[in-house]
Amino acid sequence: MKICKKCGAVNKDENNFCNCCGAPEFSEAPADMQAPQPAMPVPPVPAPMPAFFKKPDFTWFDVFTIFSFVASIIGCFVIGLILDPIALAAGIAGFTKGKRNRALAIAAIVIAAISLLIRLFITLHENGVIPEWVITGAFDS
Ligand SMILES: [Zn+2]
Repeated sequence: MKICKKCGAVNKDENNFCNCCGAPEFSEAPADMQAPQPAMPVPPVPAPMPAFFKKPDFTWFDVFTIFSFVASIIGCFVIGLILDPIALAAGIAGFTKGKRNRALAIAAIVIAAISLLIRLFITLHENGVIPEWVITGAFDS
């Protein structure tokens, strides 16, 4: 086998002119073209497991999420003005950085925010900052 110098077509050794472009000049074909080797069978590579099948690694931010949820529940009943901001911060950290339990983090953020707002309004009202009519609602007689 030989290679046409002009167009690179593979020609038989007995050809005087390229069977593709008709040029008379040839170069030796590389050794691997002279005797084509059968392709080595490539062992199949096992496909990597799709991401949604394996649970992401447990991180400290997931601990934040669980802590945040517990703190937001406790904050509904006692020392909410202290626990709720902590639960809010931990819940936001757990939601943005943690890979698991994001729904739990959202629940903690919502519970803590509502609880904190209610506590805040009641505290401000008790100290005379907010007038009575602001905190009265549908079920007040
Ligand atoms: Zn040629």
